[in-house]
Amino acid sequence: KPRLILILGDQLSADIAALRHADKARDIVVMAEVADEASYVRHHPKKIALVLTAMRKFAARLEQAGWHVAYTRLDDDGNTGSIPGELIRHASQHGAEEVVATLPGEWRLINALNDLPLPVRQLADDRFLISPADFADWARGRKELRMEWFYREMRRKTGLLMDGDAPAGRAWNYDHQNRKAPPKHDHGPKRMVFEPDTVVSEVLDLVEARFAENFGTLRPFGFATDRDQALAVLDHFIAHGLPRFGDYQDAMIAGAPWLWHAVISPYLNLGLLDPMEVCRRAEEAWKAGAAPLNAVEGFIRQIIGWREFVRGVYFLEGPDYTSRNVLGHDRGLPALYWGARTDMRCLQDVVRQVRDHAYAHHIQRLMITGNFALLAGVDPHEVHEWYLAVFADAFEWVEAPNTIGMSQFADGGLVASKPYVSSGNYISKMSNYCRDCAYDVKAKTGEKACPFNLLYWQFVDRHRDRFESNPRMAVMYRNWDARDPDERGRILQEAEALLRGLEEGDSI
Ligand code: FAD
Ligand code: SF4
Repeated sequence: KPRLILILGDQLSADIAALRHADKARDIVVMAEVADEASYVRHHPKKIALVLTAMRKFAARLEQAGWHVAYTRLDDDGNTGSIPGELIRHASQHGAEEVVATLPGEWRLINALNDLPLPVRQLADDRFLISPADFADWARGRKELRMEWFYREMRRKTGLLMDGDAPAGRAWNYDHQNRKAPPKHDHGPKRMVFEPDTVVSEVLDLVEARFAENFGTLRPFGFATDRDQALAVLDHFIAHGLPRFGDYQDAMIAGAPWLWHAVISPYLNLGLLDPMEVCRRAEEAWKAGAAPLNAVEGFIRQIIGWREFVRGVYFLEGPDYTSRNVLGHDRGLPALYWGARTDMRCLQDVVRQVRDHAYAHHIQRLMITGNFALLAGVDPHEVHEWYLAVFADAFEWVEAPNTIGMSQFADGGLVASKPYVSSGNYISKMSNYCRDCAYDVKAKTGEKACPFNLLYWQFVDRHRDRFESNPRMAVMYRNWDARDPDERGRILQEAEALLRGLEEGDSI
């Protein structure tokens, strides 16, 4: 009897575990575009189009390679609308009695597969460097989980940038050479875009018809949608972006979304690029003298360090992770996140960019949209759903620890050792947003006071019990306490008025 080999939309790798365990002559590969996956949050139309196109192209490649693929299109008659529904339908159609899958990157789907009325084997997803079980072993008995220690183990394990037992260049981390303020006249290399072919065009029409209400612009659509195109994006980055990746990793420039970032996360997460091949390419560039060590180390750290670390945390913490809320925040997500008017130039620029490209780079996600939501006390689950919906690279295993943990501190400090909050000062230093803003970044109070300034001190004040004893926060409390009591009172009063206004739907 044939077995059903399930390939999900983010498992588009030719050597994915389920395919390696399959028998081409006997088994049936099941791939399904289903309403459940396309709508459990209101995904950005570009994200839906990217996933559906990449799935269709991958299925065509499998068929060319001789696989029997049972592919369900979103608008097919008889589409049951869910992954379990499609598996049950195909099982009865083909007389299959067993399903082989690769572990999904989301508890929701893992549990749905476990609940199927058919035996299901969920194989480890070995596209990652470390399995959930090995991560749990690493985490066991540690007082706190710190990415930096984990990263060093991954360097040793992979041999990347290693000189025997020692790190290349004798240091593990070169961040002191990175993170320069943005350059004045250079906005980084041009982004590589792909003209829609017939498969892309067909999907764009479908998405336009079905998801017109979702936040985000669909066209122009320039994403890579197959492995060859994704490799071209990688080549382009290694040649033109990587050499200055470290220098401007944290810089933000209005109207310049890409800077020196790789913009490969959607391709890594879909399975079109392999993390180790990406890191090896970066390491080769360093060895060939084409990129400096500070850039290459910083880049590799994001992939074998952060990316693997957050996945470990996601599986370690279990299905309730996305409902954590240790700070007790309960405000609704302000309408400006969905494009409503705001005079805050930084938020306006990042939200527009997200609307148009389904992309923002890390520091925009962390220090603009994330920082504001945290300062404003927004319910972290609402923040999580926003991030999951609007970014082309958002899949829960990577999005949730970054949002719930790193950005919103809702897990109590598992991912971040202190909350990532800042006043306008940091934003002014790392970007050119403040120059053209209706608010004054230097004003601490008054009509023109930058909202980040007001909300920052209100956050520090309202969470004193939790953070005062954190050594990394001590300076903030000393600064706050040293201020004139009248000024403190004014800041708190104005911050509270601003928060009330937000709740009532005022634009700020
Ligand atoms: P680059 O800056 O060029 O970095 C290279 C690669 O490193 C990325 O492609 C990515 O694969 C990896 N990487 C870098 N930082 C992280 C990180 N913190 N966690 C995991 N991988 C990382 N990344 C996602 O892939 N999906 C998400 O849904 C996602 N949600 C995020 C939500 C918040 C609140 C924050 C603060 C970060 C989030 N990130 C997410 C991490 C990071 O912002 C993106 O991976 C990165 O911006 C992708 O763009 P890039 O390819 O140009 O990255
Ligand atoms: Fe953002 Fe404040 Fe700067 Fe305006 S002044 S861009 S609100 S940080």
